[in-house]
Amino acid sequence: MRQRNKPWAKEKLDQYPQYVISAPEQHKGKWQEVFEKNQPLHIEIGTGKGRFITGMAKANPNINYIGIELQDSIIVTALDKIIEEELSNVKLINVNAEDLREFFANFEVDRVYLNFSDPWPKTRHAKRRLTYKTFLNIYEDILVDHGEIHFKTDNQGLFEFSLMSFSEYGLLLKDVSLDLHNSQFEGNIMTEYEEKFSSKGNRIYRCEVQFK
Ligand code: SAM
Repeated sequence: MRQRNKPWAKEKLDQYPQYVISAPEQHKGKWQEVFEKNQPLHIEIGTGKGRFITGMAKANPNINYIGIELQDSIIVTALDKIIEEELSNVKLINVNAEDLREFFANFEVDRVYLNFSDPWPKTRHAKRRLTYKTFLNIYEDILVDHGEIHFKTDNQGLFEFSLMSFSEYGLLLKDVSLDLHNSQFEGNIMTEYEEKFSSKGNRIYRCEVQFK
């Protein structure tokens, strides 16, 4: 995601410790203590500007959410949405998904969302795709038994790669849509990228996969 550098972003993130968790490794294995209610924990990796995670948190007060985003200049917009809505069941962490094992204990997470992940189209960059097998291995560790990944993208190449990667890893393909916005799926919450690319006429692909 291209984003103007915001030198003040880090400082703003630090001003809202109730929403942005600055030392996430300290909460490994005890994330429930950070939330008001003890309830299932869903994480979104590559949260971007936070439309999805805040929409989900509002629609599902019985779930705790953590949005994970690498870039402080982007996650700061997600923070604005949480402040505006005063949401108590969503937190943000400004870290790299490669390091998720440092922040979450085995079996601590109930679901992983990946929305419009960077496609890294060059073959030599395949390892950077968030659906590459090394990332699936991380998700398998932190997810509960039979945990699920829910994935959306408008990028056909990334979707095809990801279906292959899920299948080769041994994940169960539970629900696959090749045109989400013209499907029976109810309760879809659009991300910023989804809004932008679907309005240009791009089809949205979605799948739910489950570890066996
Ligand atoms: N999910 C949002 C949406 O649909 O509007 C943002 C999509 S954007 C294409 C991908 C986002 O993932 C970027 O904001 C990027 O910084 C973030 N990202 C990419 N790799 C990441 C990683 N390894 N860990 C955390 N965030 C990552």
